[in-house]
Amino acid sequence: MTVDQVKLLARLLEVTRNLSTTVDLETYLQSILSAASELTESETASLMEFDEAAQDLYFKYVPWFHRDAIKDARIPLNGSAAGWIFLHVKPLMIDDVKKDERHYGRIDELSGFVTRSLLGVPLILHGRPVGVFEVFNKANSGNYTEEDALVLETLASLAATAMQNEMLESTMQSSQDEARDLDRLKNEFIAITSHELRTPLGLILGHSTFLRELVGNEYEEQVDAIIRNASKLKEIIESLSSVDNYQTGGASIRSRKVSITRIIEDVSASFRDVAIQKGVALKVELERGQDLLVDADGSKVAIVLSNLVKNAITFTNEGGHVIIRGEQQPDFVKVSIEDDGLGIPLKDLPHVFERFYQVESHLTRRHGGMGLGLSVAKVMIEMHGGRIWAESMEGLGSTFTFLLPVGKTSNVPDPVNPFVE
Ligand code: ADP
Repeated sequence: MTVDQVKLLARLLEVTRNLSTTVDLETYLQSILSAASELTESETASLMEFDEAAQDLYFKYVPWFHRDAIKDARIPLNGSAAGWIFLHVKPLMIDDVKKDERHYGRIDELSGFVTRSLLGVPLILHGRPVGVFEVFNKANSGNYTEEDALVLETLASLAATAMQNEMLESTMQSSQDEARDLDRLKNEFIAITSHELRTPLGLILGHSTFLRELVGNEYEEQVDAIIRNASKLKEIIESLSSVDNYQTGGASIRSRKVSITRIIEDVSASFRDVAIQKGVALKVELERGQDLLVDADGSKVAIVLSNLVKNAITFTNEGGHVIIRGEQQPDFVKVSIEDDGLGIPLKDLPHVFERFYQVESHLTRRHGGMGLGLSVAKVMIEMHGGRIWAESMEGLGSTFTFLLPVGKTSNVPDPVNPFVE
């Protein structure tokens, strides 16, 4: 390697190193253009991208002093040096454009630039040409060399990768926008439907409760079934609305001093029969003599705990255990519900608090539910300024934990667990 080659390589390395600190694509490509002009001793450089729809090339980046004149210009694939490079996927050197009919003179006319010589290489992504990178007018009326071509190819591959990243980013951005739109539509749909269902359902419940008094023993079973199922529907609608109300800021909590100890005991008592029927041992572990007191909306905390205990029993097989623990920490109360049941696969764990999310598909699963319990629990805990998260190992069991601040103003620390929702 000659001294000049070593110097060139060192300069190329320096340029690429500087490039890695540039963040936006525009600056990045401008730096690549400057580096290309400098390292190949050219007057100027340009980068063209292939337009799939129009089947021609256009200037993606040109030095600013040409930009206005040629920014809308199109370069045909046939009858231009850039087109030749693109179609043949090969570098091209033209020492004197006057003697080569592949040169497309229109750009010179538009920009007022006089092209004498040029060197161009294809921009390649995944083995396919996506554009062309060119430098013009070698200094001192010299001719371009193989080395220049190598430098330009190196810079072209950097440019191509950067352009691909930009493409990926814009695709990602538009998918995110789409997902956000869909989410908004879903929320609107849920808000409207649950609102519209509430009134007729209230009437069904009211009238059937009235009927029950009238019909006596004979149809008691049937009327009870109507009331039971209508109440279930009402619960579902309440769950849907509570998430919506929270998201739209319409929800409120009525805080009073409440005993979490008491709530734990009540909820556990209400699930005793269900647990016995299922053959699951339900246990409460609390420090003796300590009442866990917080400023909170007791009815909401009870809903949260019920949802968690119900899940723990549902997703634990016969012979399993569910333990509810409550513990006082300096500024908050910590409640956890541990089971040694089915557990949650790692890939599903970060999503279980999303509305309608269920590990098993709704159609194949054996358990009821609509994937609402945990999302309701999450919004209710967060309304209190608390945190809720899940830890789980598939096949070994799960632990759901929530923290509630003792006073209204206390700050609950971020949990250490990464699967926070
Ligand atoms: P659902 O009412 O359908 O159970 P949830 O929002 O309460 O909905 O729970 C969402 C999903 O998280 C459940 O369908 C289940 O797959 C999973 N899950 C929740 N709790 C547990 C648990 N203790 N053990 C295993 N899986 C659980």
